[in-house]
Order: sequence, then C-alpha cells, then structure tokens
Amino acid sequence: MSLGGIADFLFEYRVPSPQGKAHWTQPVLSNLLSNQKYIGYIVSFDNFFLVQGEKSRRSNIDENTNKRKTSRYNSQSVLSGLLVCTECNHNYRRITRLSGEVVWHCASRVEHGKKFCKHSPSIS
Ligand SMILES: [Zn+2]
Repeated sequence: MSLGGIADFLFEYRVPSPQGKAHWTQPVLSNLLSNQKYIGYIVSFDNFFLVQGEKSRRSNIDENTNKRKTSRYNSQSVLSGLLVCTECNHNYRRITRLSGEVVWHCASRVEHGKKFCKHSPSIS
C-alpha cells in the first residue's frame, strides 16, 4: 500500500493516530515506518528492513514514467551504518565477491586485514 492507502485503511478500521486524531498524516506514517526505535515494538525486525527496501525501491521509480531512475537497485543504503563490528567498532561494509555472492565484512578488516580486527565474522 501507499502511505495514503495505509492512512485510509487505518481510518476505515478506526485506528486513531498517535495524536488521537481519526486521520493519520503521511509524515507520521513515514516516520513510524522509518524510525529504528520502533523495531520490535510496532514494527518487527524483518518487516522494518523490508519496508526500508521497499521505500528505497519506490524512490528509485520515476512516478511520471513508472520507470527506474537508475538501472540498478542498490540495497547498500538499507543496512549501511546499522551493522557495527563488536570487536573494533567499525561499520560493516557490503562486498560483492567475484562469484556474485554478497557478504558483509568489518571495514577495518577489509582495509587492514587482521591487523586491528582478528575475529569478526563475515555475514552472508
Ligand atoms: Zn572489526
């Protein structure tokens, strides 16, 4: 659903907005779906990331022509900055292997090998 569609749905089912109003506004909905503090409470962990992927995908589509603005959907923005190495506190970085497999590595490990970060796992 679009944000407008979700607002209509909530109105139809008489779910009031956080301010107690009958109508939800799109910025309130958008914030709820994008704010990490709601993960696990209102929005499940899996759904949160599905929503961010969907929002990113839609923002890549030109509303006038219904065609993609860029040829390639880049999921990097969905997780970048959220994965942090517990060993050295660097962010995790998305790496596409020659085989096409996508894995996440500690950025320190990518740049310096095992010099500063010895045990961080790769995440597929
Ligand atoms: Zn690390």
